[in-house]
Amino acid sequence: MAYKVFFLTLGCKVNSYESAAIGKLLMNEGFEETQDPSECDVYIVNTCAVTAEADRKSRQMIRKARRVAPRAVVVAMGCHTEMKKDESDADITVGTSNRPKLVPLLLEKLSLPEDQAMQAEDLDAGTKYYEYGAVLSQEGTRAVVKIEDGCNNFCTYCIIPYSRGRVRSRKREDVLTEIRDLTEKGYREFVLNGIHLCSYGKELGQDETALGQLLLDIADIEGVERIRLGSLEPSCMTEALIALLKKNPKLCPHFHLSLQSGSDSVLSRMNRKYDTALFRKVVKDLREVFPNASFTTDMICGFPGETEEEHKESCAFAEEIGFTHIHVFPFSPREGTKAWKMTPQVSAPDKNRRTAELRGISDRMEEARAREMIGKTVSVLVEQVESDGTFEGYSTEYIRVKGKCSETNLVSGDILEGVVAGTDGFLALGDGFCRKK
Ligand code: SF4
Repeated sequence: MAYKVFFLTLGCKVNSYESAAIGKLLMNEGFEETQDPSECDVYIVNTCAVTAEADRKSRQMIRKARRVAPRAVVVAMGCHTEMKKDESDADITVGTSNRPKLVPLLLEKLSLPEDQAMQAEDLDAGTKYYEYGAVLSQEGTRAVVKIEDGCNNFCTYCIIPYSRGRVRSRKREDVLTEIRDLTEKGYREFVLNGIHLCSYGKELGQDETALGQLLLDIADIEGVERIRLGSLEPSCMTEALIALLKKNPKLCPHFHLSLQSGSDSVLSRMNRKYDTALFRKVVKDLREVFPNASFTTDMICGFPGETEEEHKESCAFAEEIGFTHIHVFPFSPREGTKAWKMTPQVSAPDKNRRTAELRGISDRMEEARAREMIGKTVSVLVEQVESDGTFEGYSTEYIRVKGKCSETNLVSGDILEGVVAGTDGFLALGDGFCRKK
């Protein structure tokens, strides 16, 4: 009988990718994935350490695994375990760099008598890119392909350079081979992600155009219809890279440009490598090439020392850019980072109020952005279809579209074109969509 494995994944898209990748390795060994933790033989908690709260939750989830599945082998992996090398509530602990060793470790553990504890794997922040050979997919239409791990930036609030190690890139051939295989399985949209995507190729002495060149190579693959990029840092968006993006016919006009704060003094305390003037220029340069581009971002409210004035600057800058959506986070101090000891820390009520204000701005901008699309022709990758032909999916600009298609046998993965006729909140609406010719 096959061993059953349950995954609980915390944190970012890279973690989701890696859980899917480990899942695939285990399935190849005859394991079965279950959605019911109480029946599993192996309970894997893929942890996160991006904030103190994430750390606390990771610890809590490892303990919960033990309670929910008392007979299962509990595995802790991910950033939290890299920082807490003595995670004693798990049977097996693997860090960020040696996760793929989990499969032989598990096979060994499952063959041992029940009460025999296993030595936790030694941990180290990675120095080489580990090849997983698997991807996360959603609805069988979009595949997330990881091309880079680690970061050299040391923003003062972030633990990632310590937990995941320095930049290392996946081999170009391996990325292209994986994408070719996925097109044969019907995937049409590819989202490239990494911890610091713009640093792709950096450890090999390449500049930011290495990313642009890789994207052109991906666009040449038959069956690839759309390419999206994960989070980008403005300082890497040079004119040379934007010139390469312009040549790419399959790149979606949607850029997630990490802002974090719209106040230059806060950006400097965060040790970010850009200021608002550079951010503004990058958005302008991209809009010249992609006139209808959408911009999304991440922002932190209540960074240590953030004054009311700096918060207002941040809000005003966000509105000036006109983001399609902002992921807003209240600052959470993370032990081991410089910001942990910075003073004064902003009070919780102030942080929460500022977070709510910025989220309100994001909501208004998102609705306004959907309205801007009225009268425009959009291309939508179908993700959901109802029996009456109503579909939902994202446009290339990453606007959620709900519409009706006049053609029959609509399936997820179809690409439709049509005109946006109205909106309902964040949703763009339209009838009479047709398959792309
Ligand atoms: S760029 Fe800054 S926030 Fe992003 S992973 Fe690197 S250190 Fe962390």
